[in-house]
Amino acid sequence: MHAWLACAVASEDGVFASRAVLSGDAARTSFRLELSVGVPAEIYTLANPYRVIVDLPDVEFRLPDGTGLEGLGLVRAFRYGQFAERKARIVLDTTGPVRIERAAMTAAPDAKGVVFTFDMVPTDPASFGVGTGAGKEAESEDAAPAPSESTAPATPAVSDKRVIMIDPGHGGIDGGAVSVSNILEKDIVLAVGKELSLQLAATGRYDVRMTRATDVFVSLDQRVKLSAAQNVDLFISLHADSLAAEDGGGYVRGATVYTLSERASDEQARLMAEKENASDLVAGINVVDGDGNDEVRSILFDLMTRETANFSADFSNVLVRKLKPARVLSRAPQRAAAFKVLKQNHAPSVLIELGYLSHPEDEKLLKSPAWRKKISASITAAVDTYFAKRTAGSPPR
Ligand SMILES: [Zn+2]
Repeated sequence: MHAWLACAVASEDGVFASRAVLSGDAARTSFRLELSVGVPAEIYTLANPYRVIVDLPDVEFRLPDGTGLEGLGLVRAFRYGQFAERKARIVLDTTGPVRIERAAMTAAPDAKGVVFTFDMVPTDPASFGVGTGAGKEAESEDAAPAPSESTAPATPAVSDKRVIMIDPGHGGIDGGAVSVSNILEKDIVLAVGKELSLQLAATGRYDVRMTRATDVFVSLDQRVKLSAAQNVDLFISLHADSLAAEDGGGYVRGATVYTLSERASDEQARLMAEKENASDLVAGINVVDGDGNDEVRSILFDLMTRETANFSADFSNVLVRKLKPARVLSRAPQRAAAFKVLKQNHAPSVLIELGYLSHPEDEKLLKSPAWRKKISASITAAVDTYFAKRTAGSPPR
């Protein structure tokens, strides 16, 4: 099912959504979105996992907190947010393959605004394949914006400063993990990323770039490409984890530094990479799996990145040492797994899980501006030590 809906648009205030609700049951589930004015909407479905994607123009979501966290009928949960410049998206995770019926954009009964509705009914996997958004994902990804000039200049640095790329995880439609009091990972890591950028830049020694400096979605692939295009010397990805209660959510805490490895250091690290690698799925990008050449690719990858891997490990060592006085570390603070965003041949890269949003104490710290300053100072000190060591031990670039 692939449907376009259009309706007259006219508003100076911009378009906003004020309410989104599910109704019905597993035989037919309805989605209803209340909008200030009508907008063109595009609805389509994706498999692996089964999702319904609704693409809208610049819609601002003014929905009550917690909207979409709870599912109903055929919908497990849904999320919403900016997907690209002037493009908003809603992604509904469904319990199985569904077909879209009765999509409509109509004037609200009270004549205030517009109501956008559609129904989902179960279908079988075979008929689901017909008319889905397959092939759509490439377009969607292309449509995502290149980060603005101010945050990520496309020209390589002309100075002799080391180029550092800070990569706040998630963003826009992809909120990341949710904390005990419903704060989103994307907001926490962006705040830390900005503080860290300021501190690194303040040393005068680094040219600092960010993969995103606003609440926008950037695919994992784009993050890697940005880093390659700007010839960075170090890539630092920032995340914060969350565990379900049955997995120790209430008591597991602390920071962990991850480096790239095709083979995970342990099961927990493997699961973590799986979770973080799902970012593109969360945003409604269809990820095409390997085509059987994985083994060959893996060997090439191994040859190309051995040196980079050594540098990444060096940085991880320094980082853990510098973080220790400022931060509770997790039980095994240095781990490795196959994180997509760390697959960079040109630059050493680490992914820092700053803490657990599922732990009340960790959440309190992650929310605190003072703590963000403190952790950023520790990371800055680690960057200083790392480059000082590299410069001493090898010819400067
Ligand atoms: Zn994350």
